[in-house]
Amino acid sequence: MRMSRYFLPVLKETPSEAQIVSHRYMLRAGMIKQSSAGIYSWLPLGYKVLKKIENIVHEEQSRAGHLPMLMPTIQSADLWRESGRYEAFGDEMLRIKDRHDRDMLFTPTAEELITDIFRSHVNSYKDLPLTMYQIQWKFRDEVRPRFGVMRGREFYMKDGYNFDLTKEDALHAYNRHLVSYLRTYERMGLQAIPMRADSGAMGGDNTHEFLVLAETGESEVFYDSAVTDLTFGDREIDYDNVEQCAGVMEEFTTKYARTDETHDEALFNEVPEERRKVARGIEVGQIFYFGTKYSEAMKATVQGPDGKPVPVHMGSHGIGVSRLLGAIIEASHDDKGIIWPEGVTPFHCGIVNLKQGDEEADGACEALYKSLTALGLEPLYDDRNERAGGKFATMDLIGLPWRITVGPRGLKNGVVELTSRRTGESEEMPPEDAVKKIAAIYAEH
Ligand code: ATP
Ligand code: MG
Repeated sequence: MRMSRYFLPVLKETPSEAQIVSHRYMLRAGMIKQSSAGIYSWLPLGYKVLKKIENIVHEEQSRAGHLPMLMPTIQSADLWRESGRYEAFGDEMLRIKDRHDRDMLFTPTAEELITDIFRSHVNSYKDLPLTMYQIQWKFRDEVRPRFGVMRGREFYMKDGYNFDLTKEDALHAYNRHLVSYLRTYERMGLQAIPMRADSGAMGGDNTHEFLVLAETGESEVFYDSAVTDLTFGDREIDYDNVEQCAGVMEEFTTKYARTDETHDEALFNEVPEERRKVARGIEVGQIFYFGTKYSEAMKATVQGPDGKPVPVHMGSHGIGVSRLLGAIIEASHDDKGIIWPEGVTPFHCGIVNLKQGDEEADGACEALYKSLTALGLEPLYDDRNERAGGKFATMDLIGLPWRITVGPRGLKNGVVELTSRRTGESEEMPPEDAVKKIAAIYAEH
């Protein structure tokens, strides 16, 4: 992409309504624009990152064997009356009437609808296990929408649902989700710690939230610092393997890590003092096992092996796809702007032309642009007629992990400069080597 043709409405001033750094940078980098409280338009740069994150979620769900599908955002109130949640959801549910005066609503989550789909089509235990998920817009009329996409009213969420014959099978589904979530967040360059949480309105007693540590997080968390040493890495997982998934689950959840809702001071005090940490975290996902709560309320049964109808065991699992943009920025930025992890960056690298209009510099930039594109990489070429300082400031703000700087002086010696956004370190090298180096870095992501 050429900057001269892109839509990147960068703001010079710091927007006064933004209280936290991710919200400030998303507005300043022209990623989002508020349309009303807690409701945003996603401008090209923000949309690109949103899609990258969504894509990682899809890839990891598919790896775990879960089936993608899509349910409507506007739903009839009838199903929600059946489960009892039409009233229970309270003011967070946006209720609408259609022209025939029928009660409709904008989906805050989708347990009811998926359970209805399930009971309409699945009759036998032989069709289990089954896990389906969607990535779809949700609406919750939050009392205090704030912090930009972190707590929006309209937000993008992955919600998945498993149907199993027995509690044991459903607990395997729970573990499988936990494992796949660990891998999902790590690919985004994030450490999201599974913490024992409270199931609230969802019911059931098995639930973990995934938290990214950040000073601006809304949740208070208590953990054994040894949990931050755990990494998932590139281990091979067979998601059908019950013992393997249970093993990973145990490895990542036995050390103390809890949100304030489930915090137990006495247990916490058993952790060696120097490892006891109290901090703040951003909830980027949650998994639940809630047994037969919905299947009993909504009569979602299958014929068991003995021919008798049994209610299925269920769980649901969510990832805050749009919130993740904020969480990643909170975890990865400096005073100049965002620092995107390679896995989610909107463009793989920036190209800064120090002397636009200079034949040699323009030619070298075009050649770099072509070679990178030919390798399947997406560079963002700042080809505007602007001062170098302004170009650097924009690149730093939008946070591409790598920048190639091209100027007449370097070109005389046959070199360009490759700079890491994270470390600020620069290295001079021939243009072909810069291309090779960038290609090698992204081969791993
Ligand atoms: P919270 O406690 O932050 O209100 P929740 O526990 O009600 O969230 P879930 O029903 O678990 O949310 O939804 C799954 C995920 O969706 C959450 O882990 C979070 O990342 C994201 N999410 C929930 N509410 C919002 C919101 N208002 N704006 C953006 N993302 C949200
Ligand atoms: Mg939650």
